[in-house]
Amino acid sequence: MLIPGIIPDKEPLLRVGIILPEDKQNALSLEISDLHSTSILINNSQTVPVFGKEIEISVKKSGIELKGLKGVGAVSNLKFIQNNDSGYILAEPVIAGRGFHWAKQISVKMPYTLEINVVDNSLLLVNELPLEFYLACVATSEMSAECPEAFIEAQTIVARSWMLANVEQKHVSLGFDVCNDDCCQRYQGINNLTSQSKAGAMNTLGQVLMYGGKICDARYSKSCGGVMEKFENLWEDTPLPYMQNIPDAKEIIDIDLTKEQEMKKWVNSMPSTFCSPHYIPESQLKKYLGNVDEEGKYFRWTIKTSQQELVENINKKLKLNLKAVFSLIPMKRAGSGRMLELEIKYIDSNNNPQSVIIEKDYEVRRILHKGFLFSSAIIIEEIKSEGSDYPDEFIFKGAGWGHGAGLCQIGALGMALNGYKTDKIVYHYYPGSKLKKIY
Ligand SMILES: [Zn+2]
Ligand SMILES: [Zn+2]
Repeated sequence: MLIPGIIPDKEPLLRVGIILPEDKQNALSLEISDLHSTSILINNSQTVPVFGKEIEISVKKSGIELKGLKGVGAVSNLKFIQNNDSGYILAEPVIAGRGFHWAKQISVKMPYTLEINVVDNSLLLVNELPLEFYLACVATSEMSAECPEAFIEAQTIVARSWMLANVEQKHVSLGFDVCNDDCCQRYQGINNLTSQSKAGAMNTLGQVLMYGGKICDARYSKSCGGVMEKFENLWEDTPLPYMQNIPDAKEIIDIDLTKEQEMKKWVNSMPSTFCSPHYIPESQLKKYLGNVDEEGKYFRWTIKTSQQELVENINKKLKLNLKAVFSLIPMKRAGSGRMLELEIKYIDSNNNPQSVIIEKDYEVRRILHKGFLFSSAIIIEEIKSEGSDYPDEFIFKGAGWGHGAGLCQIGALGMALNGYKTDKIVYHYYPGSKLKKIY
C-alpha cells in the first residue's frame, strides 16, 4: 500500500478494491485466461495449481468456498497470482457506478494479483498491480481511447498525482488504496486498456504535479460548467492555492456567479469555455466519453422533479416528515455557481411551516435527487398551477457535471482537440503547480 506523506522514488504497487463489503455480494465467477502462469494461494500459506478455467466462488458461514476444489473445504482468504502481465482474470459481476442511479453490473478483466477476503459476511476483492499499469487502465476507463494524446497524458498525470498525494485514503481501514469507482477513480481492469493509454502512461512515466514541495491533491471532475471551483468550498476549509475559481476559458470572463442574477444568466447561456459545445459539439462528445455514463448533456442540462418526488427524496434522505415543499431558495453560492447553502421551506405533516438549511455542494446534490444530482450549480424554477398552495413541479437547470474543482475532463478534452499541449492543459487547471518526474 502507499505510505501517506512519502513521495516514492520508484514505481509503487497499488491495491484497488473491486468488490467491497458494502456491495453485499456473496458470489463471484472467475475466468482465468492463462492457466499455466496462474497459481492460487490459500489461507496465505498453501499454494495449489489452478484446477480449471472457470471458478465459482461463494461466501458461506464457514468461509470462502471454491466450487471444484477438492479436499480443502472453505478457506478464510484466497490469492490468485498471475506471473505475467499479459494474462488476466475475468470477474463477474462487478458493480460500476456504485451508489449512483446509473449503477450497473459489468465484468472486469484484471491483471497481476487478485485477493479475496470476507468482511461482514460479504466479499472483498482486491486487485494489486503496479501503479503505471493501473494508470494506463484508468485513463481510458475515465474517458474513451478516441481522445487525443495530450488529453490522455494530462488525465494520466492528474490521476498519478492524485493517487500519490494519497490524501483522501477513503478505504485504508479495509486494506486497499483506492476503490474501482467514481468515489476514487474509475478502474475497470484491462477492459479499456489501449495502446494509446499505455503510451500515455509511458510518455509521462513518474511525472506528477507539485506545489510547495508536495504532490498536488489533483482532484478532477467531468465538467466544471464554465468556472472551476475552489477546494475549500467543496471539502476542508484549508485552501489549496492551485484550485481556484478560474474561468475554464482562453479569455477572462468577467462574471460573479455568487450573485443570483448573474448565475441565472450564466446557466441560460452558452459561454465559450473549453468545456462548452463551442469547443466540442455535443454530438461528438459521445465518442470521447466512457461507456458507463448516462447519455446526456454535461455543460447545460435540465431536470424536472414533481412535488411528490421531491418530498419523498427529502424525507428519505434527511429523515424528516415533510408534507409539501413551499420553496427552494439558494442562500449562498461558490464562485462556480455551486450551492454552498440551500434553504428548503416546507410544511410538515402537522401542517406547521418549517425550514431547513442544506450545506455544501455534496449534500445539495444528494438531497435534491433520488440518486445524485449532476451538479449543484443550478437555478431553480418553481411551477405552480392556479389555485395550488405549493409548486407542482420544480425545474433544475444546471451547469456542469461533478464538483468542478481541478481538471475539467471535458474542458481538457476541448483544449487538447484545439491543439493545447499536455503541460499547458495541466497548468491551466492547477495554476502555480510544476511538473516533476519522481521516478
Ligand atoms: Zn473509493
Ligand atoms: Zn470546464
